[in-house]
Amino acid sequence: MPRLSGVLVVNAGSSSLKYQLVDPTTGACFAKGLIERIGLDAGVVHHEVDGQRHVLERDVADHAAAVTQMTEAFTAYGPDLGDVDLLAVGHRVVHGGQDFADPTLVTDEVLATVERLIPLAPLHNPGNLQGIRATQSQFPDVPQVAVFDTAFHQTMPAAASTYAVPRAWREEHRVRRYGFHGTSHAYVSRRAAELLGRPLEELATVVLHLGNGASATAVDGGRSVDTSMGLTPLEGLVMGTRPGDLDPGLARHLHHVAGLTVEDYDRALSKESGLLGLSGSADMRQVQQRRAAGDPDAQLAFDVVVHRLLHYVGGYAAVLGRLDALVFTAGIGENDAQLRAAVVERLAGFGVELDVEANGSGRGERRISTDASRVAVLVVPTNEEWEIARQAAEVVHAR
Ligand code: ADP
Repeated sequence: MPRLSGVLVVNAGSSSLKYQLVDPTTGACFAKGLIERIGLDAGVVHHEVDGQRHVLERDVADHAAAVTQMTEAFTAYGPDLGDVDLLAVGHRVVHGGQDFADPTLVTDEVLATVERLIPLAPLHNPGNLQGIRATQSQFPDVPQVAVFDTAFHQTMPAAASTYAVPRAWREEHRVRRYGFHGTSHAYVSRRAAELLGRPLEELATVVLHLGNGASATAVDGGRSVDTSMGLTPLEGLVMGTRPGDLDPGLARHLHHVAGLTVEDYDRALSKESGLLGLSGSADMRQVQQRRAAGDPDAQLAFDVVVHRLLHYVGGYAAVLGRLDALVFTAGIGENDAQLRAAVVERLAGFGVELDVEANGSGRGERRISTDASRVAVLVVPTNEEWEIARQAAEVVHAR
């Protein structure tokens, strides 16, 4: 049998590590897994290969132990990493600040910069760093590439990335709009052009990445020109537990009327708002079930989500000056036909026409607008692992 060749894609959080061995050319996934409860008791290792799932209970003391467990799972269940030409390890890194506009070969200097950016992503960059360091020591001869969630949005013009706040905040504290989900927006906008059979360079596209976290991006000729998340992933669309856009005066108001501290406020906006705050459930499937049963809170949650989406789609069409394609992706975007219909039907006055059948009963990558529609509406399942593998392989080839 010919040797497999692939990129090991690693997404390390503070207490979990996801991995996938991917062919960067075809996107084929040879095996994937998840290690949970790193540094806590009752750790769990999941490894999936050839449709078979293996689950092991193992204490996993730290990220180095997690990488050892991952390697052992590959050895036990396949494919043995010793038999694989590992082109690179591609790491998802959440925040690259203004320092990284492209995927980057990991060096000591790169790690120091990612560390310096921790104040911008205190919940994510530390885990990402631990994952990189652990993989470096396990695979010292394999190039490590960092792929940043923020990188795709570094092309935003200053008009879109700048907050109208005091100069000192902007210059000393790096306060600006960065945007996230960049790997997904890059992949989905490129696939959309391929699906339409048109050059990416000539397309104006709005991508709606609607998962637990959600963001909209305006993509002009393959470049992000505006995106709905900002300094943090709280801004923009209504999400599972985050509110998206708010009046900045809310913090002061709640401090005065309810004595809320910065920590209370932050927790409520990160974990208790969005669909959860409106309907009691953070999960869109449950919101839809309750809505179907006539629950008014679930109906309001759905209506607020749709209203905010329209706000961004219309705004970005104006920012782009034209609109060729509107693309839905991630858990809700790929699966929730009712939500897609609610958004697209409200755009009928702009010549956007839903193909009801393709929307409701089709599956996978497809066009869900009629041939007569002035804007092509598409569903493109996201594949961040393939995009990371592809970008990592490109960096390694270019060395
Ligand atoms: P994450 O941001 O954690 O990767 P996902 O992209 O997996 O999240 O999206 C999770 C969201 O997708 C949840 O709100 C879930 O309810 C929603 N979802 C998944 N399947 C469906 C479906 N069939 N209908 C509506 N929502 C769905």
